[in-house]
Amino acid sequence: MAIFRPHFPLFPPWKHKKERDSLQDRLPEGKLGACPHILTRPQHGISRRDMNPNVLKVLYRLVNAKFEAYLVGGGVRDLLLKKYPKDFDVVSNATPEQIRKLFTNCRLIGRRFRLAHIYFGKEIIEVATFRSNVPPQGAKEHEFKMESGMIVRDNIYGTIEEDAQRRDFTVNALYYNIKDFSVLDYTGGITDLNRRLLRLIGKPQERYQEDPARILRAIRFAAKLGFQLESQTRDAILETKHLLKQVPRARLFEEVRKLFGEGYAAPCFELLLEYDLFGTLFPQTYACLLQEGQRGKTYQLLNGMFENADERVVQQKPVTPAFFFAVLLWTVLSKQIAKHQRQKRKKWRSAFELVASDVLDQQMSCVAIPRHFVLRMKDIWFLQEVLVARDLNRILDCFHHSSFRAAYDLLTLRSQMEEEALREPVKWWTRFQSLSDEGRNAMIANLKRHSDMR
Ligand code: ATP
Ligand code: MG
Repeated sequence: MAIFRPHFPLFPPWKHKKERDSLQDRLPEGKLGACPHILTRPQHGISRRDMNPNVLKVLYRLVNAKFEAYLVGGGVRDLLLKKYPKDFDVVSNATPEQIRKLFTNCRLIGRRFRLAHIYFGKEIIEVATFRSNVPPQGAKEHEFKMESGMIVRDNIYGTIEEDAQRRDFTVNALYYNIKDFSVLDYTGGITDLNRRLLRLIGKPQERYQEDPARILRAIRFAAKLGFQLESQTRDAILETKHLLKQVPRARLFEEVRKLFGEGYAAPCFELLLEYDLFGTLFPQTYACLLQEGQRGKTYQLLNGMFENADERVVQQKPVTPAFFFAVLLWTVLSKQIAKHQRQKRKKWRSAFELVASDVLDQQMSCVAIPRHFVLRMKDIWFLQEVLVARDLNRILDCFHHSSFRAAYDLLTLRSQMEEEALREPVKWWTRFQSLSDEGRNAMIANLKRHSDMR
């Protein structure tokens, strides 16, 4: 749902994860009941100026047509926290068909869970209809939940109260009402926001059973917001984490991508280790971590990579999953290659060909990595040896390879992690990149002279 990217900063973008904004003024706390706790406009800091103009157009068109329309989810939460929202989600009592009739630029997506996408050029505003997790009268329980408690149907329309109850965390269930600019809180989200607590709505164990991916969402939001997990929300992770294996592998890929690609990879990594979840996602890498002890080489490499990835997000540079997956599996791969070379006296390249697919297959049995990323990962790995060897005939091909930069970044990381022998090739490639064609040719000629002398 990463749809809205403003062209201007709503707030000065936070520079570093340690510099998180705190709530400037404490929001008034609310008592819970059937009625929502309401924060009026003067009681919260959300202004329409902070919102995407296209989101406002959608909200106004809906209310002008006599529907209810709210901003909900991370957009409201982040605005209250004076953070830069990643996207804005709109929710309404209008059905997808009613929404389509209102907007000519609208397409409905999803077969069962229907959502309206409203197009403004390249930008898409997503509008959902209030949903409920209460099965309609007379419906059979097993049509909605599997025996494990996992939800199989989530497409029943409901009221705003029901919609709030089916959301994940209290701080994600706050509704900004465009009619009177108030914020509606049905689950205690404002109190939790003030206390910097991440609390699942309802009974945590059941909510994780319904959708075990919420465990990873809990880790991601705790890292992103710098919030503590409320004690039952935390304890229930330990009781339900085995269910993560039931989450479709493609969905796990999307969750991993968000964990490591949104600027909070380093704290997410720490929390995954702390909650003993890392091994479920990356069993081979976890085995290396365990083998090497607490802060061994693999840990250093991963931590360095995640810190760099977070810095890239701050600088608004892309973070590709191909790179972080390649690094996540690098020590696994290189250990296996070394083993093959020792036992079967193979050259690096043929050992690599034998081992790489095996390492990937094992990883993909947990998290499905799309094929185009797998191909790039293989290139990044393969280029490691090419970068070190600097075979005269391959230097320019390697330099112009689409994965060169990512391969160079991995080599740099490796050289920083005590692989002394890699410092010289890294220095060479760093200089090579900084020069003109002429300078590069001179460096190649120099290498040739050295190899002729040997
Ligand atoms: P961000 O976009 O900053 O990552 P978000 O809270 O907006 O955070 P989204 O994945 O965009 O997260 O989802 C929007 C909202 O939909 C959430 O805030 C939450 O209310 C609801 N939601 C999303 N996924 C789930 C889920 N698995 N279970 C229950 N509610 C969910
Ligand atoms: Mg969102």
